[in-house]
Amino acid sequence: MTQTVTPNHEQARELRERTRQRGIRHFIGGEWVHSLGGETFETHTPTDNSVLATVASGDAADIDRAARAAHDAFQTWREVSGTERRKLLHRVADLIEARAQEIALLESIDTGQAIRFMKSAAARGAENFRFFADRAPGAADGQSLPAPGFLNYTLRQPIGPVGVITPWNTPFMLSTWKIAPALAAGCTVVHKPAEWSPVTATLLAEIMDEAGIPGGVVNLVHGFGESAGKALTEHPLIKAVAFVGETTTGSHIMRQGADTLKRVHFELGGKNPVVVFDDADLDKALDAVVFMIYSLNGERCTSSSRVLIQDGIYDEFTARIAERARNIRVGDPLDPNTEIGPLVHPRHFEKVMSYFDRAREEGATIAAGGERVGEDGNFVSATLFTGASNDMKIAQEEIFGPVLTAIPFRDEADALALANDVKYGLAGYLWTNDLTRAHRFAQALEAGMVWVNSENVRHLPTPFGGVKNSGIGRDGGDYSFDFYMETKNIAISLGTHKTAKLGVGQPVKVDKSEVEG
Ligand code: NAD
Repeated sequence: MTQTVTPNHEQARELRERTRQRGIRHFIGGEWVHSLGGETFETHTPTDNSVLATVASGDAADIDRAARAAHDAFQTWREVSGTERRKLLHRVADLIEARAQEIALLESIDTGQAIRFMKSAAARGAENFRFFADRAPGAADGQSLPAPGFLNYTLRQPIGPVGVITPWNTPFMLSTWKIAPALAAGCTVVHKPAEWSPVTATLLAEIMDEAGIPGGVVNLVHGFGESAGKALTEHPLIKAVAFVGETTTGSHIMRQGADTLKRVHFELGGKNPVVVFDDADLDKALDAVVFMIYSLNGERCTSSSRVLIQDGIYDEFTARIAERARNIRVGDPLDPNTEIGPLVHPRHFEKVMSYFDRAREEGATIAAGGERVGEDGNFVSATLFTGASNDMKIAQEEIFGPVLTAIPFRDEADALALANDVKYGLAGYLWTNDLTRAHRFAQALEAGMVWVNSENVRHLPTPFGGVKNSGIGRDGGDYSFDFYMETKNIAISLGTHKTAKLGVGQPVKVDKSEVEG
């Protein structure tokens, strides 16, 4: 394991000490507050699982307080002009950029993600705010749909206070991805971050406050999913829930939100295939395959965790992946040379480790890694399973670690059948130089997003989301506003149409356009 002391460490020590001293509280109605019941929990650093800070643990009473604050603030925030919202959201982006190093360091300490990736994640958080800031003035725009005798026009209005529930992997970036469009749309927010990585949510709340977002517009309640999270999804003042997390949690939220008819947006799990045909640029494909499973500790929803390789190149290509995997530097997340840091939590570490045994039991070969690294903390090696078949658990279940399962295929039909034979459908990656095959395959792949001859390179206006058990709804560009806003149609009569007369003692002709339900 790499263990180099770098200039990051001194700064990280100070930030850690400050975080410990302050503790982590809720931010409700513009105030930093403890839980009403005084409950707390501890967050740990996965490097050695020592305590990082004490965190306020919210429950239904704290959520109620936050939902009311968001409801009250909505009455004025919805009236703030788009241009003013644009200004405020750009200010948030400026402050994120100014504090990017601090955000990156704290994110690394709290989640175990390597600092080299967290610096980009903080920058991406700022970019998310800028992107939606610029769209705020046009968020309400609609269409003109003229009909005989009528002018119909549509407009969009913010749906109201929304709940945002985020997971522990890259939490800062993912929170900005939800909160920025909600605010640009004119919604107010109650954010419940994951209990395993609550630290940077506090920075985001601080930054939004400093940028001048009025009190109550964004509220932050920490706590566990089964208490704070559940209460948020059930609260009658919360009109919609944007959730990123596990598929089974999505099902719970759908049930919990049923009584109050919550609008839901789910970004859930994945077991994303990367399909490598023998005509592809194999050097580039290798870089992308390795990047998409071993970056961000493999704790990324769009990771390509199943590599399907055409049988003629299978042995050589897997040997090349294994060689790269063995060279990957696992270690201290604050070291700029580190490529894989520790997994977020001992429970997640145990889960990932259990798949090493599972692979052996199922008869796959561990071609690289497959073991713990070091004796403290939650470090595992970059791992490759070969000789796997698609029906094995290592090919079907989301491991959410730096663990890749390689499966051979014969031809295009075989590859497609294997690629689609999972319950998930978030992303797919396709490597081929055959143009018609690329189009044909991409259209048949059961996934919300397909990249051809590329790793995941996001363009913010494009739709992001999954099919099957990977999600409901799309984020990105205007798609985000469709979730955070209601579309209203207004029909203006031009005074030329005839209204059918009832109660005048003679049969009337009713036009078919007048009998819609
Ligand atoms: P998780 O579902 O365990 O938790 C996510 C959040 O939901 C946490 O804040 C948690 O407290 C909360 N929660 C848990 N139970 C709840 C309940 N009953 N009601 C309301 N809230 C509840 O997920 P995780 O382990 O934190 O994150 C990893 C998962 O997230 C993986 O499956 C990954 O694929 C997925 N993910 C998906 C995307 C995507 O865009 N599709 C992006 C990132 C992560």
